[in-house]
Amino acid sequence: MKKVRFFPILLYVLVLILLFSWLLGMFDDTSVRISYSEVITQFESENVSSFEVKGSRLTLQLHEPMSGSWEVVHSLADPEGFHEEIRPLLEKQTKSGIISGYNFIAGKGWSAYDFVFPIILAGLVLILIWAFLAGRANNNHPMNNFGKANVISGQPGKKVTFQDVAGMEEEKRELYEVVDFLRNPAKYTAVGAKIPHGILLSGPPGTGKTLLARAVAGEAGVQFLSISASDFMELYVGVGASRVRDVFAQARKIAPAIIFIDEIDAIGRRRGSGMGGGHDEREQTLNQLLVEMDGFSKSEGVIVLAATNRRDILDPALLRPGRFDRHIYVGVPDSAEREAILKVHAKNKHIDDSVKLKTVALATAGFTGADLSNLLNEAAILAARDNRPAMNMNDINEAMMKVLAGPEKRNRVRLQKDLKLTAIHEAGHAVAMYNLPTHDPVRQISIIPRGWALGMTWSQPEEESAHLTRNEMYEMIVGLLGGRVAEELFLDDISTGASNDIDRASKLARDMVGRYGMSKTLGTISYTSGEELFIGRDFERTKSYSEKIAGTMDDEVKALIEKAYNHCAEILKNNQQKLQQVVDFLMEHEVMSGTQFRQCMEGKEITEDTGSLFDGFDAE
Ligand code: ADP
Ligand code: MG
Ligand code: ZN
Repeated sequence: MKKVRFFPILLYVLVLILLFSWLLGMFDDTSVRISYSEVITQFESENVSSFEVKGSRLTLQLHEPMSGSWEVVHSLADPEGFHEEIRPLLEKQTKSGIISGYNFIAGKGWSAYDFVFPIILAGLVLILIWAFLAGRANNNHPMNNFGKANVISGQPGKKVTFQDVAGMEEEKRELYEVVDFLRNPAKYTAVGAKIPHGILLSGPPGTGKTLLARAVAGEAGVQFLSISASDFMELYVGVGASRVRDVFAQARKIAPAIIFIDEIDAIGRRRGSGMGGGHDEREQTLNQLLVEMDGFSKSEGVIVLAATNRRDILDPALLRPGRFDRHIYVGVPDSAEREAILKVHAKNKHIDDSVKLKTVALATAGFTGADLSNLLNEAAILAARDNRPAMNMNDINEAMMKVLAGPEKRNRVRLQKDLKLTAIHEAGHAVAMYNLPTHDPVRQISIIPRGWALGMTWSQPEEESAHLTRNEMYEMIVGLLGGRVAEELFLDDISTGASNDIDRASKLARDMVGRYGMSKTLGTISYTSGEELFIGRDFERTKSYSEKIAGTMDDEVKALIEKAYNHCAEILKNNQQKLQQVVDFLMEHEVMSGTQFRQCMEGKEITEDTGSLFDGFDAE
């Protein structure tokens, strides 16, 4: 319904054109009609070069001076008689080559049916097309459902229940309360309990907000109206607001009901921001939503559920009590939840005994539900590609590398010089990380190109912590600089390979100084609280600080990076020999596992190893 369908219209025009040209062809005849005696005269004067009798229609082709762009035709009263009459002439003239060929086609000639039938057919086709277009228009043409919301009621596809949502026990309990209220409102109102108007699910993308809402629908046993906020926005001004009205009207009619608005930030963005003031339509829609949410009383049994991953940009009016007064934060899962999610998604996949989901869960700190489901799916694809009936731990390992850094590109031509550079770069990261007390342990080092990366050093904590301290952030910067510092120290030149590291290190440093108030000179002040503005592609923040502060910030960031750089250089210089060993190992084996790396650093003998990412995450 978002765009006018061009295809049927095109078809319609095409049929019309065809019909017209056909009709024109019928009447615009370039033929010359002659009488029977003239026909015979033409034959006798040896003017005919060929002819054709089709039913009763005789067409003559004349010799040179007489021929033209027109056809000579005659309607024969008696084709058989004509044949008899010219037979002697025909025999003579075909033999002498005057008549090069002729053709008698039996059957009736042009009759009324010959053109009546196609007209009827064309008419039928036109009617069909018209009916088709009209049918579409009824439910799909924008002009015809002006202001009507496109609502999915009940469950699209397979029914999802709380069983399908792993982890999130508190979230589920809270939502269950709401469902229970809709089922037996009396129980709650008897105690004088108020049930919230609106529930807002917020959290990073892929953490299962939409899934949770669908599960509520599955559990509720009440009507469920689902709509994506972008559906409110249309080409026509005023449609959004009337759609909002429509959804609420529908919900009231069928109450008890739940209205689910996915991606509510599409309409719920803070009013009065953005450039050019072209957001009137959205503001009207949002205002209507606010009005509707105030308008229904709790006894009506309608609850609004909304999801967003940008709660910070929502208009404060939406969040105040009486509207979305209950917030459920859906966060990134912890290791137990990850294991539960993996179990849910492993249910319909074939997995062999080597797979320890617990180990996978431990090694995937920071993965969301969507990431984990994607991981198992990629692993299943890898197993299927090798014609194996079940996936094993190696598939999951390879899938994880693929998810993290893209597919392996072993066949890419690599110059020896590039290999050496990559090995030194990655060894630099790894050795620096090893010598930083708060840094996450190194899990794998590889110089096999993947995606856009030429190599990678993968570090991961045992368990993710909720906070980062200043020292941890600083050491992360030191670790990120390891690649560049190693290049600088052990090669004559530096490369572009470190650009991503440098970006990330700079961003971290900037956040430490400007966002988390971790700089002594600038004090404990956050300098990011400016208004968010939409400028072209991105949201920029207006500066809420002076140019002087901006200058100081830049100096601070520079000083911090410099300090980290020197720290890193010191570590690498002190461990030059170890670093060289790691480089040599990488040049020979391409991949070094976390265990092998630690053995090397501790001066022990390096043992054989699979080099899996799950190294060191044993479930036992
Ligand atoms: P969001 O709406 O938060 O961006 P979705 O609800 O669309 O995320 O989640 C994407 C997919 O991730 C789901 O379809 C589901 O397969 C998977 N997923 C996310 N969280 C969970 C979970 N807790 N349990 C099971 N699967 C999950
Ligand atoms: Mg979603
Ligand atoms: Zn690097």
